[in-house]
Amino acid sequence: MYELSEEHEALREAVRALAEKEIAPHAAEVDEQERYPSEARDALVKAGFHAVHIPSDYDGEGADAVAACIVIEEVARVDASASLIPAVNKLGTQPIILSGSEDVKKLVLPVIAAGEASASYALSEREAGSDTASMRCRAVLDGGKWVLNGTKAWITNAGESSWYTVMAVTDPQAEKKANGISAFVVHRDDPGFSVGPKERKLGIKGSPTREIYFENCEIPSDRIIGAPGTGLKTALRTLDHTRPTIGAQALGIAQGALDASLAYVKDRKQFGKSVSEFQGVQFMLADMGMKIEAARHLVYASAAATERGDKRAGFMASAAKTYASDIAMEVTTDAVQLFGGAGYTKDFPVERMMRDAKITQIYEGTNQIQRMVMARALLKG
Ligand SMILES: Cc1cc2nc3c(=O)[nH]c(=O)nc-3n(C[C@H](O)[C@H](O)[C@H](O)COP(=O)(O)OP(=O)(O)OC[C@H]3O[C@@H](n4cnc5c(N)ncnc54)[C@H](O)[C@@H]3O)c2cc1C
Repeated sequence: MYELSEEHEALREAVRALAEKEIAPHAAEVDEQERYPSEARDALVKAGFHAVHIPSDYDGEGADAVAACIVIEEVARVDASASLIPAVNKLGTQPIILSGSEDVKKLVLPVIAAGEASASYALSEREAGSDTASMRCRAVLDGGKWVLNGTKAWITNAGESSWYTVMAVTDPQAEKKANGISAFVVHRDDPGFSVGPKERKLGIKGSPTREIYFENCEIPSDRIIGAPGTGLKTALRTLDHTRPTIGAQALGIAQGALDASLAYVKDRKQFGKSVSEFQGVQFMLADMGMKIEAARHLVYASAAATERGDKRAGFMASAAKTYASDIAMEVTTDAVQLFGGAGYTKDFPVERMMRDAKITQIYEGTNQIQRMVMARALLKG
């Protein structure tokens, strides 16, 4: 009746086994050394889990949105940084899947599916974060080429990715700023493209976040995604499809923290007994489990809504991202508490999980912005 399919459960089992064997052993070191999780990337590519959402017409796995969430959730359960490999491959390619020409699809999607390249998504700028329409990055059509100038900020996996979906202003005179923005695909070898130094972050330290620069960066005229002026619409529609994946990432981090807590409280003894026997501890565990279960249903339901093209998909995606990220912050903070002093050290994974959880309340639109999106949808009816 109301449960995941056998295929989804089998996928979870396969990703969990791979994550525990190939990704978890490196997670603490990746965080400590702030290095890209290349072992995770190699293992995900080998198993075909690095970009399961790519349609089979473009040599991909053609997995549905719920399956993509399960992959991200299970990787995030052991390493949030590594879960950004499948998550950002989806974020970077979804604008192309939604609005790209056949030529652009054929150029980018098969190489991502093969694991020969990865993709990033470049919407934000230093002065245009929540207010995306006020972006300054420019693209001008000049002699059969688009020429880009400007800077994009906070770009996840920049430097690692070969392909970048970039939103830039093409009509600064447009009556509505949002209608003067177009989307493009840029390759890291395109002349005039470069990346900045890595941001020094609180968490997800294994996932590089950098600025990217366009200095008279020339790309062929057919590298535009969709018609001129539709770029911001495509970028925002993309987020309806990917906010469930951030919910899945948050959910995975929370599940990892609960699993670590359960093992610890059973083992740890105080007052002559296991601390798991104290009701004060049990009530915390119960609340953590309850919140995770609620978030899981919302994440999968929102992913399924985007897959169906349900008219409530935008609301559901924002709700899933917001709820799952808020509970991930609560659950990971409680996990640190349940470990006592040990939870505050790098000897156990829960302090990393607490630091990693925070970003899920911020990126792909802060949770205040999500609440605006949800309220707008509710009031519109
Ligand atoms: C690690 C990391 C990775 C990222 N990856 C990417 C990426 O790959 N691609 C990309 O394009 N972007 C990326 N981002 C950018 C991210 O999406 C933005 O940081 C986010 O949308 C917030 O924008 P801002 O930082 O400019 O905050 P601001 O917009 O300056 O917000 C500051 C505060 O004001 C609040 N606020 C703003 N406007 C309102 C309002 N109208 N009502 C109520 N509250 C409001 C915000 O919620 C926030 O609390 C990433 C960011 C980080 C930190």
